[in-house]
Amino acid sequence: MTNHLLDTLKVAAGERHASVFARRPDGTADTYGDIVDLAGRIAAVLLDAGLMPGDRVAAQTDKSVEAIALYLATVMAGGAFLPLNTAYTSDEMAFFLGDAAPRVAVVDPARQAALAPAITAAGVPAVLTLGADGGGSLIEAAAGRTPAAPIARGPDDLAAILYTSGTTGRAKGAMLSHRNLASNAATLAAHWRFTADDVLIHALPIFHTHGLFVATNVVMATGGTLIFLPAFDADRIVAAFAQGATALMGVPTFYTRLLKHPGLTRAAVAGMRLFVSGSAPLLSETHRDWQARTGHAILERYGMTETNMLTSNPYEGERRAGTVGFPLPDVAVRIADPDSGAPLADGEIGAIEVAGPNVFGGYWGLPEKTRQEFRADGFFITGDLGRFDAEGYLHIVGRSKDLIISGGFNVYPKEVEALIDGLPGVAESAVIGLPHTDFGEAVTAVVVPRDPAVPPQEPAVLAGLAERLARYKQPKRVLVVDALPRNAMGKVQKAALRETYAGLYGGGG
Ligand code: AMP
Repeated sequence: MTNHLLDTLKVAAGERHASVFARRPDGTADTYGDIVDLAGRIAAVLLDAGLMPGDRVAAQTDKSVEAIALYLATVMAGGAFLPLNTAYTSDEMAFFLGDAAPRVAVVDPARQAALAPAITAAGVPAVLTLGADGGGSLIEAAAGRTPAAPIARGPDDLAAILYTSGTTGRAKGAMLSHRNLASNAATLAAHWRFTADDVLIHALPIFHTHGLFVATNVVMATGGTLIFLPAFDADRIVAAFAQGATALMGVPTFYTRLLKHPGLTRAAVAGMRLFVSGSAPLLSETHRDWQARTGHAILERYGMTETNMLTSNPYEGERRAGTVGFPLPDVAVRIADPDSGAPLADGEIGAIEVAGPNVFGGYWGLPEKTRQEFRADGFFITGDLGRFDAEGYLHIVGRSKDLIISGGFNVYPKEVEALIDGLPGVAESAVIGLPHTDFGEAVTAVVVPRDPAVPPQEPAVLAGLAERLARYKQPKRVLVVDALPRNAMGKVQKAALRETYAGLYGGGG
């Protein structure tokens, strides 16, 4: 009997059961033996609850080692793990539970009462709890159980459903198979040279592909150790550098915040071999500042919930700031005309389309939507726009829905943002299109000052761009704000900005 994903993650491999899987903030540690045993006992509880192959286990729980065990347990019991953002409200939970119809829901004990109406409305047969401290009815039920043996599952079977963090329209559940997850874990582990000696600082949420699959699966597949932190905390990360850590995976905000920490020095990171960034664009400036400060070039990679990881800067060779590197082995990436799907020449900007064993099978319950997002030859249309440069590095210029069409001309926000970010007094910027009677959309810059006491002035920003950008790309207005709206993964929420400022030009469209 084989379970494709768990075999790749070597979950049943007895010889490494004494090695440490996770070091907890309180100084205790869980070995691989511990986590596999707990997962086996939780799997027994899930099977008792009537979980059948393919059934969903929805989990809205705080980050804990036990929550990782629940993920493994679900896969072990033949189910599909469905992690949900801890920020989702009861109303949002009602949608997800209704849509996914899980057999089991695992929630925070403190939220059980508030979620009861959503759970009842969705008719979820079994509800268990798991708290941030690793306690709750799930763990109580698992105590003293005989661990279940893994249920046989093949590469095409469903292993997880992750709802995309989509900022517009209805959230869609991406169905990920055992092959999707296993192939990407193996590819990344080899590409980034992970071994059993690695100690990865894990400070990402585990309801998202980055923290759950990229970070956790890669380490598990190679038998390394996690320094398991409940959330991002610059002090704790700097402390972890001195505790044998070798690698960090983070979103760009991790790096910008760590750069503000006085403890970030070359000496402090002497034991580190790899810093990876992804899930949102890393500013070239951050890349350069990090290299100057630590001597390390951050390795930026690109992927998404639906596809797992797609491209990566090289482990050896130049890690080029502002790019997401080359397609990973076995992953095909092409640039196509967004309308016709016809391939474009290198250097041209177009829709990023991808194929490979890592690419999901479709959206849960949405066959029509799924068909629309795939080309006839099986390539998935990512919704990102990009181009390959002469050396084959992929540059992402933004989401296609963030593309601005002003007076009939395409404006790629990233080009304008990069110039604004280089102006004096600017920390960062977001360029959006807002409804405008004459132009259709008006290019609009939202700017965050480096020092709130001396915000950059609109005329100065406009003057700074005047000679460097074609007129149609220049912002019509520059707005100064304290901070840009971001989601849990540090992605700027442009849809929220468009909504906030929809009426700036009289709302006329
Ligand atoms: P998610 O499904 O939440 O992981 O979001 C995936 C999206 O994040 C991608 O489609 C990209 O738009 C964006 N993204 C991920 N990694 C990068 C990166 N390194 N640079 C720029 N955008 C990225």
